Amino acid sequence: AGCLSSNALAIKEGLEKAVTEAGLADTVEVSGVGCLRLCCQGPLVQVDDLVEPDNPGILYEKVTPDQSSAIAASLQSKPSVNTLTPLQKGNLTQPFFTQQQAIVLENSGKIDPERIEAYIAASGYQALGHVLREMSPTEVIHAVTRSGLRGRGGAGYPTGLKWATVAKATAERKFVVCNADEGDPGAFMDRSVLESDPHRVLEGMAIAAYAIGATQGYIYVRAEYPLAISRLQLAIRQAQRLGLLGSQIFDSPFDFRIDIRIGAGAYVCGEETALMASIEGKRGVPSPRPPYPAERGLWGFPTLINNVETFANIAPILRNGADWFASIGTEKSKGTKVFALAGKICNTGLIEVPMGTSLRQIVEVMGGGVPDGGSAKAVQTGGPSGGCIPASAFDTPVDYESLTQLGSMMGSGGMIVMDQNTSMVDVAHYFMEFCRDESCGKCIPCRVGTVQLHQLLTKIRDRKATSADLELLEELCDMVKHTSLCGLGQSAPNPVLSTLQYFREEYLELINAHA
Ligand code: SF4
Repeated sequence: AGCLSSNALAIKEGLEKAVTEAGLADTVEVSGVGCLRLCCQGPLVQVDDLVEPDNPGILYEKVTPDQSSAIAASLQSKPSVNTLTPLQKGNLTQPFFTQQQAIVLENSGKIDPERIEAYIAASGYQALGHVLREMSPTEVIHAVTRSGLRGRGGAGYPTGLKWATVAKATAERKFVVCNADEGDPGAFMDRSVLESDPHRVLEGMAIAAYAIGATQGYIYVRAEYPLAISRLQLAIRQAQRLGLLGSQIFDSPFDFRIDIRIGAGAYVCGEETALMASIEGKRGVPSPRPPYPAERGLWGFPTLINNVETFANIAPILRNGADWFASIGTEKSKGTKVFALAGKICNTGLIEVPMGTSLRQIVEVMGGGVPDGGSAKAVQTGGPSGGCIPASAFDTPVDYESLTQLGSMMGSGGMIVMDQNTSMVDVAHYFMEFCRDESCGKCIPCRVGTVQLHQLLTKIRDRKATSADLELLEELCDMVKHTSLCGLGQSAPNPVLSTLQYFREEYLELINAHA
């Protein structure tokens, strides 16, 4: 979507025309692909050697439609091209690319997401075929459990354990739901996965459905993601046509259908119980748990809910083996994690790194640090539910436990970098405003508490607060955290608490300015 918004379609059409006019149509294939990851330099065009795939490709950055013929001509090695129309060459050997380890994004930027043949040629649906022909549902769950995969939506709950719980439940019907309601400010991992490789998510959902005994799946995706929605719709139609979704998949007795449910963009609908209410056609507000969706979910039936990235990991795990996956990452956090790098950082875009990679490696090496020689002050992870990690803790390995210990959380993978000029009180104020606006209003601590917290932060920011207001702010944070009904309210104070923990002097400075 990022490249499309800066005219990528016109560039693609221009390239197709230029390649034909240059008489290269027999040897050059122009293909639309998913995210090439370095968003800040888009639109991107990558030239790969399909005959010698090991040859390093060439990346062109910030391409404009009028450069299409120059790129086509460069394929014929005409020496004058670059002087006639300067093309900005990227560097595919820079750490941003070389230090990534692609599992979820292995096809991203390589295959045409609108062609199921491209996914199949890249080993797509191989895992589903293998599972249906040669594995029992219990064996599939064991493999996922042994891999050590944990839910990528934020909380990090063990995926195999969740699947086993739903599998054990006896019921007439069961459901599989893919939570694609990505709503954290600065997060675009799930959108990119859906846009770049939609079949991977469908395959993961189908394997999950076989393992737990479900016949119907739903993908809950927000309306703000029109490209992801249209590519999912197309992918579902293509898979149905080839017998990879629907009845008797791979000529087995397994039936599974997937439908899309489009959300209106309420942040709270990412919460499991609110999401299910929305799928059922009700107002999307959370309900108390228990009962958990695994026991009583959609329409009262056991329901498995995982997010986009979790499902995207399933096919590679079954294709390459649980041990292979478990060998990547740290002792308790296995595999890789996709992060969306945003904020005051040179290389904004999408990265996938092994769990345990340090924040310093991500921000300073892969991200290229802060533009114009500035210095990073903090990184915000986990969106409005997460916290701000100071630069002094950048050597921390990124895994579920370490980030929680620092007062933040992994979240779904948004990473916003702040530089030395960023006011951390402003950051806390921004996230509280977000939570106040997105609170569904069902319970008082969150509905009223976020308003009051926002008012107190406004007072502090405007240098009108006293130290008594700061005490009240901390007291209120504690109350909202411990008495709200759902995760939105329970975690809304996190950005305030973490900035108070690491940047208290900035609050005191503003309060003293009033005194
Ligand atoms: Fe709604 Fe907030 Fe209560 Fe959650 S915590 S139920 S979002 S009011």
